[in-house]
Amino acid sequence: LSRLRRTEPSVRSFIHVADAAAEREAEELDRRIASGEKDAVGPLAGVLVGVKDNLCTANMPSTGGSRILDGYRPPYDATAVQRLREAGAIVVGKTNLDEFGMGSTTEGSAFQVTTNPWDDSRVPGGSSGGSASAVSARQCVVSLGSDTGGSVRQPASFCGVVGLKPTYGRVSRFGLMAYASSLDVVGCFGSSVFDTATILSVVAGHDKMDSTSSSQDVPDYASELVSLDLLESKPLNGLRIGVIQETLGEGVDNGVVSSIKGAASHLERLGSVVEEVSLPSFSLGLPAYYILASSEASSNLSRYDGIRYGRQVSADDLNGIYGESRANGLGHEVKMRILMGTYALSAGYYDAYYKRAQQVRTLVKESFKDALERYDILISPAAPSAAYKIGEKINDPLAMYAGDIMTVNVNLAGLPALVVPCGFVEGGAAGLPVGLQMIGSPFSEAYRFSYFREPT
Ligand code: GLN
Repeated sequence: LSRLRRTEPSVRSFIHVADAAAEREAEELDRRIASGEKDAVGPLAGVLVGVKDNLCTANMPSTGGSRILDGYRPPYDATAVQRLREAGAIVVGKTNLDEFGMGSTTEGSAFQVTTNPWDDSRVPGGSSGGSASAVSARQCVVSLGSDTGGSVRQPASFCGVVGLKPTYGRVSRFGLMAYASSLDVVGCFGSSVFDTATILSVVAGHDKMDSTSSSQDVPDYASELVSLDLLESKPLNGLRIGVIQETLGEGVDNGVVSSIKGAASHLERLGSVVEEVSLPSFSLGLPAYYILASSEASSNLSRYDGIRYGRQVSADDLNGIYGESRANGLGHEVKMRILMGTYALSAGYYDAYYKRAQQVRTLVKESFKDALERYDILISPAAPSAAYKIGEKINDPLAMYAGDIMTVNVNLAGLPALVVPCGFVEGGAAGLPVGLQMIGSPFSEAYRFSYFREPT
């Protein structure tokens, strides 16, 4: 907590910090343990967690990074949050994000800009930038984020932490503010694979409040990890790894390419077979994603009507309330997405955009399925570059969207993907981290190995 207090003025990971409440909860826990109630405390007793502010928390404001929800306090906890609390974790605050998850830098928050702990002139990535920077600056042990098109994996890569996007349906979305419901998943950040695996086991599993949540058993993910300490023992013998060819070409920084190639040779030395694999529909994923995500968002965000949630506005009639609250309450990027999505779904353009994007989604799914029949894991960078400067892409939405090329396909296909730090490029005082993305078949979160047990 003292580290959080010391670092927060420069990192600004949290929209809402509950450090005093966290301290009280920790003292209460100490008391229960001291009085012999050891069994009454859960497996995450006293572990400080940060929660992305698009996940509902009953005792704290939940804004989704939007003015339209300024001051909103939900009447319930999101299922993932409730499960963390039941395991004894202490929610230390709500982390910053791009408004409703739409963005890749966290600059799109209505409240503040979060900085990258490796270099405070750079973005932490987004949209779960606050959750990534909080773990990276060791302001909390683990955190929750959400990933619709890369929002856990890209900030994990920019901030040098571990980020997991689970299989679609692995974690309940109940209490997650919907952005694009067919793509949204709740994801986890940690400073090691072990920590990340540990919280996944707590939050995953069926929830009757989310009919898309899977009823598949939840393994103890952390116990499945294999130590990679001993190069000689070839712990990855027999593992088939495909490096996605399309992710190491034009537009990808040289330093990123060499970090990924370095990681690939390391995995080979550990006993796996590494080959290049082509996913021909890879580059189609980006435009399809932005059509589908915006279309779903335009429908999902209609619930912010100025009546049911958040700030009250006064106007002469119902249309006045809608107009007034949405014009002032929603930010520029969100409005742009609503317009794009409404356009793509309108009768005259549906076949040209939405329908074609759905067809591309099927192609993407099939090409992953085909590749994952031949390989256990597919690898790629998590982003085409390391963290860039604050303000660099804020006025160029297409350049910002292009940065999502490595991650969006995985959401279109609903697959799980883990990002771990795998190298550095020049920049900042100590270099800037690069993340390796490892993609698997549905429900293969138990990857059987931890690439770095304790990245520092
Ligand atoms: N950057 C992507 C977008 O703006 C992904 C965001 C996300 O995963 N929430 O849509």
